[in-house]
Amino acid sequence: MDWAELEQMISTHVGKRFVIDNKKTLGGGCINQAFHVTGCGQEYFVKLNAASMLDMFEAEYAGLDAMYQTHSIRVPRPLLSGSSGSSAFLVMEYIPLHGSGDAAAMGAQLAQMHGDQAQRFGWHRDNTIGATAQINDWSDNWVEFWCQHRLGYQIRLAEARGIGRHAVQVCERLAESLGDFFTDYMPRPSLLHGDLWGGNAAYDASGEPVIFDPACYFGDREADLAMTELFSGFSGSFYASYNEAWPLDAGYGVRKTLYNQYHILNHYNLFGGSYGSQAVRMAEQLLSECR
Ligand code: ADP
Repeated sequence: MDWAELEQMISTHVGKRFVIDNKKTLGGGCINQAFHVTGCGQEYFVKLNAASMLDMFEAEYAGLDAMYQTHSIRVPRPLLSGSSGSSAFLVMEYIPLHGSGDAAAMGAQLAQMHGDQAQRFGWHRDNTIGATAQINDWSDNWVEFWCQHRLGYQIRLAEARGIGRHAVQVCERLAESLGDFFTDYMPRPSLLHGDLWGGNAAYDASGEPVIFDPACYFGDREADLAMTELFSGFSGSFYASYNEAWPLDAGYGVRKTLYNQYHILNHYNLFGGSYGSQAVRMAEQLLSECR
């Protein structure tokens, strides 16, 4: 990474001289190198990866910006994405993050963000979920969107990775039955964070919620809620205040397994192992529930 070039690009972007006098590596990320850089009375959060990952950072920039523009929940303001030498970078506002804060506000503010809606499902560009491509072609039909771009896309990857014939057949049966989960419920396309596990939500110094590292698209808000439950980490007051702001449909309890099965399939595609059998168990459970 040519840091002098990055200093120059930041200076030009903000219209103020920026020279780094302290650069600290931050841990906790899954995919990229992260730094807290300070100098000239300014500070930024910088993510780095190989130059070939520029598209991923451009998508993250667009996602942060989309959430930021809703003025609902605090999101690090994105500043700049680009490449320098063999590295791609993403620069954003640095926010010192804490593990605890106003969980009720997080629920209410997430509901407010979900109130930002589009005419169709999808997004203006593809992005990534973990390191896997996430296709966001616009669609008028949520069931078709999920079938093709979420479940179907991951099944094909899992098949190529060797998940096995039985798993593919069960997932394909689930894909054919998707309509059964939406007989009396049709979501509107809400702006979603898209990757809302506990590692991507925290609080600023005053206890206000902050969400980051998104995989945004317009979809069923239940998908964001489901993911908060997948690896836990969100408190009862978060759910209570979300439900108070915008009550969830009674069928959420079944559909959340459908939405989380996507992430488990993705985990199989990223990490292999027992995520494959977990995805099959989830599909079997769903098939038994939709009959
Ligand atoms: P990755 O894309 O590699 O998963 P993250 O975006 O999750 O990286 O960031 C890694 C860690 O850095 C997070 O777990 C969080 O603690 C911290 N972090 C993320 N964004 C910011 C920010 N804007 N300011 C300060 N710390 C941040």
